[in-house]
Amino acid sequence: MTNSELVQRLEETIENIPDFPKPGIQFKDITPIFLDPKLYEEVIADLANFSRGKVDAVCGIESRGYLFGIAIAVALEVPFILIRKKGKLPPPFVSEKYDLEYGSAEIEMRIGQLKPGQRVLVHDDLLATGGTTEAAAKLVEKQGAKVAQFSFLIGLKDLLGEQKLAQFKVPVHSILEY
Ligand code: AMP
Repeated sequence: MTNSELVQRLEETIENIPDFPKPGIQFKDITPIFLDPKLYEEVIADLANFSRGKVDAVCGIESRGYLFGIAIAVALEVPFILIRKKGKLPPPFVSEKYDLEYGSAEIEMRIGQLKPGQRVLVHDDLLATGGTTEAAAKLVEKQGAKVAQFSFLIGLKDLLGEQKLAQFKVPVHSILEY
């Protein structure tokens, strides 16, 4: 499948749900991808190609970042580390707070799974404002590892997430952009 065929297949497959979970939000539902194993394989191949030879570990963000992140890590034969929402991981862990539209959230990563100096892919299903991914990248840096790349299935251009990630000065890949 060529890149433009993959983009087209994903555009046909990902569902847009208007006004979910709040009025004004265009929710992108990626779950229909899992009804089509061949398409899933193509997505993983694209994301793994972007990172092959360039990272020593993959960090995936709860929970949809796990659905693709672990398969990318297996394809690249590198470790996968979970970034979880507050309160799920046993100690020791590092935490990072970030702002949401209303209020704030916190994510955490076990200490010791990521090694100092490792080059890391930070992966999630979707880049919106970039707040979640920025916090994830800070968790990586807090452990002395280096953010080497970011990847997503979807980037929502209007929300300027790429601009927020520009501070890390590394490549950002989204298969699809809206
Ligand atoms: P942000 O921190 O604003 O970049 O938000 C990214 C996180 O929120 C990702 O983990 C996404 O899964 C989720 N998210 C944000 N906006 C949407 C959307 N329109 N559709 C689906 N998921 C979204």
